[in-house]
Amino acid sequence: MGTYVVTGSASGMGAAVVDRLRAAHHRVITVDIDDADVVADLSTAAGRRGAVEKVLAAADGRLDGAVLAAGLGPAPGRDRPSLITQVNYFGVVELLEGWRDALAATGAAKVVVFASNSATTMPMIPGRAVTALLDGDAERALKAYRLFGKNAPTMAYGASKVALSRWVRRRAVDPSWVDAGIRLNAIAPGAVMTPLLERQLATPGEARAIRSFPVPAGGFGDPGLLADWVIHMLSPAADFMVGSVVVVDGGTDAWFRADDWPRPVPARRLRGYLRRMREFRAVRA
Ligand code: NAD
Repeated sequence: MGTYVVTGSASGMGAAVVDRLRAAHHRVITVDIDDADVVADLSTAAGRRGAVEKVLAAADGRLDGAVLAAGLGPAPGRDRPSLITQVNYFGVVELLEGWRDALAATGAAKVVVFASNSATTMPMIPGRAVTALLDGDAERALKAYRLFGKNAPTMAYGASKVALSRWVRRRAVDPSWVDAGIRLNAIAPGAVMTPLLERQLATPGEARAIRSFPVPAGGFGDPGLLADWVIHMLSPAADFMVGSVVVVDGGTDAWFRADDWPRPVPARRLRGYLRRMREFRAVRA
């Protein structure tokens, strides 16, 4: 039986993943702001450092897998863009960087990060903020959100999930991760009925927007179904799965973006493509 760490374990999809792992007799180290083995506030750098260290100690330096589900939804409030940035982006990236060696120690670890279909279905997410996050610069990202006024938290949410998805895809193929046997992937849910969504539905303006959003399958997702996908992505079925963003959203992304992917490499990108070919050969030589 393996040892897994799950953040955002006290509620919603994280809690559903914990239930399934424990039912399969795995050891689970839970991390949340409350009601967890490791209580940590992931919105602060000190809280994130504490979570890294306490989990490493509890796991004895060896992790078979990690699920990063802690996250905040867009809600009104001046501090919200900053909180979203700290928890949703740095609360994943800093933890995983801190746990990399422990994941490498088991030789076949699996990591699942909770991204979102907001990354591809929400319009006008500022690219500058995404670049800033990938550069590790929260302040620059926050500046980009200010232009959006009361929509700043929504933009911060979308940008945090775009940056997270890109970070996953970049790190997943980096030799220091993939050659260590770590399989790093993301799941991108649509609207799933958890306390996070319930809170959004309790705000009349947000409820209208959420209920009018196209979901071809109808209704909302069930947290247990999403957890089933995560469990599959933690299993040996994911041995050849690297840097995938698995969209489970009732068809919203396909509705808006059917022709955007798969997209062949256009002629104007050929030079960059050939450069990546050379880089790969150089890394593997
Ligand atoms: P949830 O609110 O039910 O659970 C999130 C958990 O994160 C909670 O237990 C909460 O305490 C924890 N958390 C929040 N702030 C924290 C902090 N500062 N420190 C430590 N823990 C903190 O939400 P959920 O819907 O299960 O969401 C799980 C993940 O899925 C999130 O990353 C969310 O962005 C993502 N997601 C959710 C939906 C949805 O519709 N529910 C859709 C797409 C993506």
